Amino acid sequence: MKRPDFLSVAVPGVQKLRPYEPGKPIAELQREFGIDDIIKLASNENPLGPSPKALAAAQAELAGLALYPDGNGFALKRALADKHRIDTSCITLGSGSDHILELIARAFLAPGRSAVMSQYAFAIYAIVSQAAGAELRVAPAKDFGHDLEAVGALVSADTRVVFLANPNNPTGTWFDQDALAGLLATAPPDVLVVVDEAYFEYVDEPSYPDSRALLDAHPNLVVMRTFSKAYGLAGLRVGYALAHPVVTDLLNRVRLSFNPNSVAQAAATAALTDTEHVARTVEMNRTERARVDAGLRKLGLTTIPSVCNFVTADVGKPGREVFQALLAEGVIVRPLDGYGMPNHLRISIGMPTENDRMLEALRKVLG
Ligand SMILES: *Cc1c(COP(=O)(O)O)cnc(C)c1O
Repeated sequence: MKRPDFLSVAVPGVQKLRPYEPGKPIAELQREFGIDDIIKLASNENPLGPSPKALAAAQAELAGLALYPDGNGFALKRALADKHRIDTSCITLGSGSDHILELIARAFLAPGRSAVMSQYAFAIYAIVSQAAGAELRVAPAKDFGHDLEAVGALVSADTRVVFLANPNNPTGTWFDQDALAGLLATAPPDVLVVVDEAYFEYVDEPSYPDSRALLDAHPNLVVMRTFSKAYGLAGLRVGYALAHPVVTDLLNRVRLSFNPNSVAQAAATAALTDTEHVARTVEMNRTERARVDAGLRKLGLTTIPSVCNFVTADVGKPGREVFQALLAEGVIVRPLDGYGMPNHLRISIGMPTENDRMLEALRKVLG
């Protein structure tokens, strides 16, 4: 029987989609190159791992695996509500903040509607928007960062969602309270302004927005956080959104009931109690990020100033080639050609020894 042309059967948004390129897993490089000693600085994970409290809670939860998770995530929502001094009716839980982005697209985007984002913004915004069949408008970046005036200028009558990453991945850039307040003041009140704060814990800038405070005055604001980065729980998949109860209710209508899973919920709830672990993580990152940035510049590379747990550098030639050469040295970083940054590499901050090894490998491959 002749195989049908499934491509033309898929919905138009999916036909044109290019899947997200994740960081290369260590096991894959082990298989391909037969090297054992591999370091992964490609997905902005926490090199210190999760809090021991989160690990213990995850372990304890395994005894209950026969039972479905709490579909309402009561304990985790309660802990988050206390942390953010907000009602639990304002919290949406997801299997990673990627999942929350999908819920937003599912609930608010469709053919005939548009989403707006910045050039170089996190790739998932484009994927979820296009999969929903919405038009995607991309505002030019300024010095690799978001230009919120340019973003605001692209909002029109059919716009339903603005996606902002603060700070942004893969550039490490951020925008301040005035910029966000300016956009919120000019955007129509029925356009959702989604601020993805996946790297919130790492930012140490006095004028970084207090988005929690802005929520009270702006029912169209959606603030997203994750347990994947500073909390070191990327493998478990937990993220959440804070938003007006009406928006939260709409997101929950499209959420499959049992996300995030029970182990993830338990680990995340326990992780919130270990503020010391996050502080230690942030402190090591601060020191090492400065050292990595200086090391890269010493190699003659240009770096984009970063407030995150990674540094993005212009390597002066196709980043994909340098990425490949680094793989042979057992070092996994992230090429950014898919972002329209063909000469840039994004390098996560690791343990001091890993950062040394990365710098040495880079020195070697750049000749
Ligand atoms: C890593 C990252 C996320 C996704 O995190 P998950 O919670 O693991 O899905 C979201 N936004 C940005 C900007 C990120 O870098």
